[in-house]
Order: sequence, then structure tokens, then C-alpha cells
Amino acid sequence: MTAAGPRSVVVVGGGVIGLLCAHYLRRGGADVTVVERDRLGRGCSWGNLGWVCPSISVPLPAPGLDLRSMTGMLERDSPLYIRASALPRLGKWLLSFRAHCNETDFAAGSTALRGLNEPTGALFDELAADGIEFEYAKAGLTFVSTEAKALRHEKDMIEDVGAARVEEWNAEELASREPDLPATFTGALHVSTDRHVRADSLCTGVSAALVASGGRVLEGFDVRRLRHEGDRLVAVEGPDDSIEADAFVLAVGAETGMLASSLGTRLPLQAGKGYSLSIRDPRVRLNSPLYLCDQKVGLTPYEGMLRVGGTMELSGINDRLDRGRIESIRRVVSPVIPDAFEGSEVVEWVGMRPLTPDGLPVIGAIPGVRNAFVATGHQMLGVTLAPSTGHALAGLMLEGRSDVDLSPFSPDRFAVGRR
Ligand SMILES: Cc1cc2nc3c(=O)[nH]c(=O)nc-3n(C[C@H](O)[C@H](O)[C@H](O)COP(=O)(O)OP(=O)(O)OC[C@H]3O[C@@H](n4cnc5c(N)ncnc54)[C@H](O)[C@@H]3O)c2cc1C
Repeated sequence: MTAAGPRSVVVVGGGVIGLLCAHYLRRGGADVTVVERDRLGRGCSWGNLGWVCPSISVPLPAPGLDLRSMTGMLERDSPLYIRASALPRLGKWLLSFRAHCNETDFAAGSTALRGLNEPTGALFDELAADGIEFEYAKAGLTFVSTEAKALRHEKDMIEDVGAARVEEWNAEELASREPDLPATFTGALHVSTDRHVRADSLCTGVSAALVASGGRVLEGFDVRRLRHEGDRLVAVEGPDDSIEADAFVLAVGAETGMLASSLGTRLPLQAGKGYSLSIRDPRVRLNSPLYLCDQKVGLTPYEGMLRVGGTMELSGINDRLDRGRIESIRRVVSPVIPDAFEGSEVVEWVGMRPLTPDGLPVIGAIPGVRNAFVATGHQMLGVTLAPSTGHALAGLMLEGRSDVDLSPFSPDRFAVGRR
């Protein structure tokens, strides 16, 4: 039993965010149950690139994304693609997103994310040191381009974030570090402090540790209804069963807004769909993850696998895999790394990144409900920010305080009447 906080907690959603919240809640002494509609880690936490990258942790709405550049996003090969047929449903969200594409909001959001990222490296190291089994490497992150100008721009961005020191490599240094890359690129940037994990292994490892320490994990439990009495949430209800608890965390990724709306809470989440191809026994072996600045595509080396992924598609909340988007990744990567997709098998995947219009996660108490909390909206940074989010939310729920300033992430910033 915890000192002052809830004794029992149900976490809804078994992706990286829900599982890391569960981990720190359990470690703080709560009886924790995770309920997951499908299998753990099968949502957006499955086929992502797994970068733990404080160096590029910034909000998605950036200065310069004006209406003209957003019109270009209606073209199917655009890295940030808006499906025209989804525009009527997305209109209000896009206007709000665009309102945040300014220097002031971007700088404030970057500062808030830097604060949330403060403990990231130490928390990942601690998870590994505690014996949680997951694929984890401290190999840094390398940015490549055929244009010196693109690398200069990237270097300025990383230095603005201020979380890392950047090394510059010329073509010869790049060739010696990454001998499997063709001599296409004129140079590279390398951030040695970034790391990478295989996110599905992180989910499996954290859930095994949770169960070993007395927590519960229920797969195939689809929460259809939240039962509340007055200003308290009492239970989550599936088709056949319900579970009561003292407190609840909603962490169902891009779908969290739909669940929270039944509590009268407005959380304007959209899905930013991304795609990946996982190549087993790859011909191209890399020593560190690679970002192709010109193509806006990432590559991550894993044990026996290379993953190539990226793109951001706004087409509503659905996990339909659009083959055209997969083909566009192949089309832009093959000319610069011709053997990138050579291997024994290629697995294609789509995932829904949970996006908020201001590009910041939503972490904290749901307004008007005394015992319900939310953790979502981590856009392209859910793996990076999962431990710090879980750690901070557990502190808030169990001790009424967190080491990190959570005010920029407060759910009530979306309440009616506020921007
Ligand atoms: C191509 C791509 C590359 C990416 N690369 C990176 C990267 O390199 N680094 C990084 O930090 N981030 C990256 N991301 C982002 C990251 O994957 C997400 O931010 C993160 O996975 C979100 O985790 P989550 O737990 O919030 O959501 P999810 O992983 O989607 O988990 C939500 C879970 O809730 C479950 N659920 C939904 N509804 C219900 C219900 N009613 N009842 C019960 N369960 C329910 C779902 O089945 C799902 O398992 C990438 C994303 C994509 C698409």
C-alpha cells in the first residue's frame, strides 16, 4: 500500500506509455493491472524506429509550416501527407495545429520536452541495470545527406535543442564508420549520446518484470465503457467483464481522446500514421541508426534485422496500411541505398502516432474526475519519453508531486474556452 496515493490502479493500454506507467506505479507500491485490447505492444509501439533521441525532441508544429506548405502535403509522396478525403474531419484540428506553428510556441514546447527528457538516459540505464530484458544499444544517431546545407540546418536544429554535442564527419569518416553504406553521401553528423531500443522487446521485458513483481496484465480486454459515480471513476468495462480500482490511467495512444470523451473531457488527438519495413537478415548492416535528411526516412539496425521507416500521414484514426506510402519509402530510399531492402524477408507495418495540435504529450489528472489520469500524445517521441512519463505520472499519483514540471502537459489545457 502506498503512503497517500491509490492502492489499486488500472492502466488502460499496453503500449510503451501504459506499460512504463504501470512499471513505476508498481515500483511505488500500487497494485497494478494493465488491460490491453489486443496483445501488448501491438499498437504504435510495435514497428517504430525505437530511437531514444533527446537531441531531436521538439514539437511537431514548427515555425514555417504555413498553409502553402500544408497544401503540398496533399501530394501522396509528401513525407507529411494529409489525405484530402479526411480534410472535413481534420479541419478544426489542422487549424489548431497551424496556430501552434510559430517561434514562441515551438521554443516553449522544446523547453518543456527538454525538461521531460532530463532523466531519460538515466531511466533507460536503470531499466537495463534492473535486469529488464530488452534490446538496447548506445550507438548514437547519425544524420546523412548529399547536401552540406541540409546537414548545417540539421546541426543548427540539434544545437538549438541543446541536449547533445554534434560531431561532423566527412565522407571518408562516414565510410570508415558505416562501411556498408554506398558512397552517396557527402558527409554526416553524429550525436553520440542518443540510443536505440527495440520497442516491442521493451514492452515484453517491462511486462514480464511487472508480472514477476506481482502486477497483472490482461490481454484481449477491450475497454468499451468507463463507469463513473459522481466525480469518481469506478470501473473499466469490457464486453464480458469489468475491473474496479482506486485510480485509472488512460494510455490508449491515438484513441485516448475517444475514451476520455465519455468522461466529458476534450482531448483533441489525431493519428499521425507512420510506416516501416523490417528486413530480416539484411544485406546492409549499420553500426548506428541513420536519418536520411533529404528523404526524411530513418533506418535502425537490430539483431538480425534492419528497420526502415518514417512518413507522417493524417488520414483520421485508423490503422489501414496504404501500400502507396510503403512504396514511397522504397522509392526514396533505393536510389541512395540500393540494397536497403535486401534480406530474407520484409515485414511491412503501419502505426498511429498519437498527435496533439500543440505537439506536446498529455500527462496528468483528467479535469473534473478525481481519480482518472491520462498519458498520451507523445507524437514521434513515445519510446524516448516513455520512462520519464511513467516515472513522473507515478510520482504525481502516488505522492502528489513529480520531479519534472508537468504543467506544460496538463490535460486541462484543452478545456473548452482555452486555446
Ligand atoms: C514509423 C514510426 C516510427 C517511430 N519511431 C520512433 C522513434 O524512433 N522514437 C520514439 O521515441 N518514438 C517513435 N515513434 C512514436 C512511438 O511509436 C509512439 O509515440 C508510441 O509508440 C506511442 O505509444 P502509446 O503507448 O501511447 O500508444 P500505443 O503503442 O498505440 O499503445 C496504445 C495501446 O492501447 C490499446 N488500446 C486501444 N484502445 C483500447 C481499449 N479501448 N481498451 C484496451 N486497450 C486499448 C492498443 O491496442 C495499444 O496497444 C514512431 C512511430 C512510428 C509510426
